[in-house]
Amino acid sequence: MSNSDYASRQLNKIRYRIAIAADKAKRDRQAITLIGAAKQQNVELIRSFVVAGLQHLGENYLNEALSKQDALDDTDVTWHFIGKLQSNKTKAIAQHFSWVHSLDRFKIAQRLNAHTPVGKKLQTLLQIDSDNEPGKGGVSPKQAPVLCDQISQLENLCLRGFMLLPKPRTEFTEQRQSFASARELMQQCNQRYGLRMEHLSMGMSNDLEAAVAEGSTMIRIGTDLFGARGHTK
Ligand SMILES: *Cc1c(COP(=O)(O)O)cnc(C)c1O
Repeated sequence: MSNSDYASRQLNKIRYRIAIAADKAKRDRQAITLIGAAKQQNVELIRSFVVAGLQHLGENYLNEALSKQDALDDTDVTWHFIGKLQSNKTKAIAQHFSWVHSLDRFKIAQRLNAHTPVGKKLQTLLQIDSDNEPGKGGVSPKQAPVLCDQISQLENLCLRGFMLLPKPRTEFTEQRQSFASARELMQQCNQRYGLRMEHLSMGMSNDLEAAVAEGSTMIRIGTDLFGARGHTK
């Protein structure tokens, strides 16, 4: 199968899963953005997906992202940074991405704010550590409200919601629980500080249905979209 046939087929499969899940939840499927989590995928394969209609790409590693952005600079992909944030990378990230999903410290937020180019608003999400796994990044649900309040005062950042990277679970009802908690926490933060966060970046290959059921607006799919990582297909 050609890359282009493969890309169309895979894209349709994921869009179909999103549509079914949205219908079940009586939600508008248009309100759910598909982000291709493209780490360790071949750039020509990624290009086929972009040509087939994929508009958003998520990247975990800055250097890998920059070389892909270079190779795809004739397309109008929206780039999302979804990996761990290091302070020495904040300048390039603020310049080269539209969205940052993995914000979890005020220090990093301040650096991103300082490095955001004039005239740009960096769209950000706070990563919530829903399973108490500090190594994975994310702020604890307890500390999230204060951090929301602080970040929302930085003038070059626009805080849009939360991102979740839960432990892999197989049970649908268990998958839903952490997603539901994040949605509720976002509502609480909105009320407490008069914020208008509205985005939930949650749902990956094996839990997108549960995420859509709980109000996800951004789904990050790697494996079930592009195929296994580290191959050229
Ligand atoms: C790799 C990755 C994904 C996609 O994971 P799959 O299980 O391959 O769909 C989503 N979000 C983040 C933050 C990732 O690192």
